[in-house]
Amino acid sequence: MQKIIDFLEKEKIEHPSETAIRHYTTIKIGGHAGLVAIIRKNSELQRLIPRLLDGGYPYILLGGGSNVIFAGDSSGLVLLIDKTPDIRIHNKELIKVSGGVTNHNLLHWCSRNNIGGFEFLAGIPGTIGGAAAVNAGAFQRSIADVLEKGAIINGKGETEIVGSDYFQFQYRESRFKTGGECILEVYLTYVFKENDEIKRTVADNIRYRKLNHPNYHLQTAGCYFKNPVIDGRKVAAGKLIEECGLKGFRENRMMVSNQHANFLINEGGATCEDAKKFERHIYEQVLQQQGTPLEREVIYISSEGKKY
Ligand SMILES: Cc1cc2nc3c(=O)[nH]c(=O)nc-3n(C[C@H](O)[C@H](O)[C@H](O)COP(=O)(O)OP(=O)(O)OC[C@H]3O[C@@H](n4cnc5c(N)ncnc54)[C@H](O)[C@@H]3O)c2cc1C
Repeated sequence: MQKIIDFLEKEKIEHPSETAIRHYTTIKIGGHAGLVAIIRKNSELQRLIPRLLDGGYPYILLGGGSNVIFAGDSSGLVLLIDKTPDIRIHNKELIKVSGGVTNHNLLHWCSRNNIGGFEFLAGIPGTIGGAAAVNAGAFQRSIADVLEKGAIINGKGETEIVGSDYFQFQYRESRFKTGGECILEVYLTYVFKENDEIKRTVADNIRYRKLNHPNYHLQTAGCYFKNPVIDGRKVAAGKLIEECGLKGFRENRMMVSNQHANFLINEGGATCEDAKKFERHIYEQVLQQQGTPLEREVIYISSEGKKY
């Protein structure tokens, strides 16, 4: 790892002494990372990742950390993709957005420039790179509906442009969710919209979330489970959990939100093991009482840097 530290210093890539990874996630679970680097330019990733691959150093890409739970300590390098604030109109159909742009900043830019089509992202924390990796969505739309192509760093450390097929999008899944390739930029299909209309839809979506989701200052990773398909129809996992009488259920510093039962809250000091036991209990209750096996949406990251 010393070679990598030397490289970060030579390239002036910030690597804070604060390596407690819970601070970089919204659910605030995790121990210490071997090393954390804060990435502010895509060119830094393009120089760093090939070196990590060559040397066999484990690394984890992190955007807003709003969909992940780290196990205790992490031996690898955590690459925090922060402030790569580049958004441009690419042509009459596409905008080009760098992976570290937050959904929040993207929507501000869109409303200033009369660019519509991404209002469904309002209130989803995190970055557009993270959203593309997990095919984030809401209000019956997801990133897969708007992503045309992406600039990525592939498993050989090479930068290439790939079409949306390459992402292998499924419901809250893509090849990047548990893989190690990096999304540098996404090209998204837009429509021209009046600034007022964009602002109105964004405000409506945020209002809906405030009414139906727990307070965003609580320590969660969003919806913990995917919505299962029962008899060909998608059913809200939160509804199934609620029908099992689990709203407000507490154990080992974890709690099921009283407002939306698919949000599991770290009440303070929970570990990954606590979260896993809690998840298991909810899974078993829903299976026994409703006959439905739930599938986890949130990503666990092992201490060796494996995502699952
Ligand atoms: C309060 C709250 C509400 C939420 N509401 C929703 C919702 O409505 N809909 C929804 O879909 N999700 C929701 N989420 C979950 C989460 O916010 C989204 O999944 C979000 O898009 C994740 O983005 P991120 O930048 O935080 O990703 P991270 O959590 O940092 O990472 C997620 C995954 O993406 C990978 N990744 C991150 N950046 C890159 C990159 N540049 N290249 C390649 N891989 C990358 C990571 O390695 C990891 O595998 C919510 C979460 C919270 C806390």
